[in-house]
Amino acid sequence: MNYLHRFKVVPGSKAKLWKIDPSSHPGHKNHKSALEEIDHYQQKLRELQELLCAERKHSLLICLQALDTGGKDGVINHVLGAMNPQGCRVAAFKEPSAEELAHDFLWRVHKVAPANGEVVIFNRSHYEDVLVVRVHKLVPKEVWSRRYDQINAFEKELVAHDTQILKFYLHISRDEQLKRFKQRLDDPAKQWKISEADYKERAFWDDYMAAYEEAISRCSTEYAPWFIIPADHKWFRDLAIARIVVEHLESMKMKYPKPTIDIDHIRREYHAAKRI
Ligand code: AMP
Ligand code: MG
Repeated sequence: MNYLHRFKVVPGSKAKLWKIDPSSHPGHKNHKSALEEIDHYQQKLRELQELLCAERKHSLLICLQALDTGGKDGVINHVLGAMNPQGCRVAAFKEPSAEELAHDFLWRVHKVAPANGEVVIFNRSHYEDVLVVRVHKLVPKEVWSRRYDQINAFEKELVAHDTQILKFYLHISRDEQLKRFKQRLDDPAKQWKISEADYKERAFWDDYMAAYEEAISRCSTEYAPWFIIPADHKWFRDLAIARIVVEHLESMKMKYPKPTIDIDHIRREYHAAKRI
């Protein structure tokens, strides 16, 4: 089965995170056995992104959502780093500014959506407005509970403008998160990433799982599907995402645009006749 189907949350179904083992790596024994495949999909990713850029008909929006240490930065580095930076951009969503809060929650998101030919990766996204906002009761329930439909309508609008949307939840276990926090403490190059608040947030783990399950269940649509990626093993997470993006781009049957110049004429005039 291709990965596009294997990890997709079927629209209308209920996502059950507890049923998916974050440490699983189906189809591969270990990192070593996957190296060739990882290489293959990274190469393909680059070719297909060039094609997307050249064709300039579609754009691609990749949403990455995860709890802290889930691997959003890692995916951006490893998978999307394989692409040509000229056609690629990352937008990160932090706590909204006063100006952003004075607008509707999609205002800051729509502004950074991809243009034709472009790939944009969201490091966190508009889904925070039904995740952290719900868990910490930052707005009343009547407000956040309306947002699932608003998100679906917004994404439909982007798709109508030929934006392809793929949404990934990087699924890590509680134990793996603690292990990664510890590694951050021990690594001077990563200490800046950690705060006491990150540890305190672990008390809300079950609330986050419930919020993720509802967001994924209600907003996995045919036009903008959610994928749940087992992410305790970084190599598997990177491979799965690269492969899903490749499979999706391949299914779009893109073509390089036909030249607008007369190639034969140019060949005759400037190469055969050596006029210059
Ligand atoms: P990080 O991605 O680890 O640098 O942290 C960004 C922080 O911003 C996270 O704690 C998010 O939960 C928070 N954040 C992102 N979007 C929102 C939002 N719409 N409302 C409140 N907090 C947010
Ligand atoms: Mg953080």
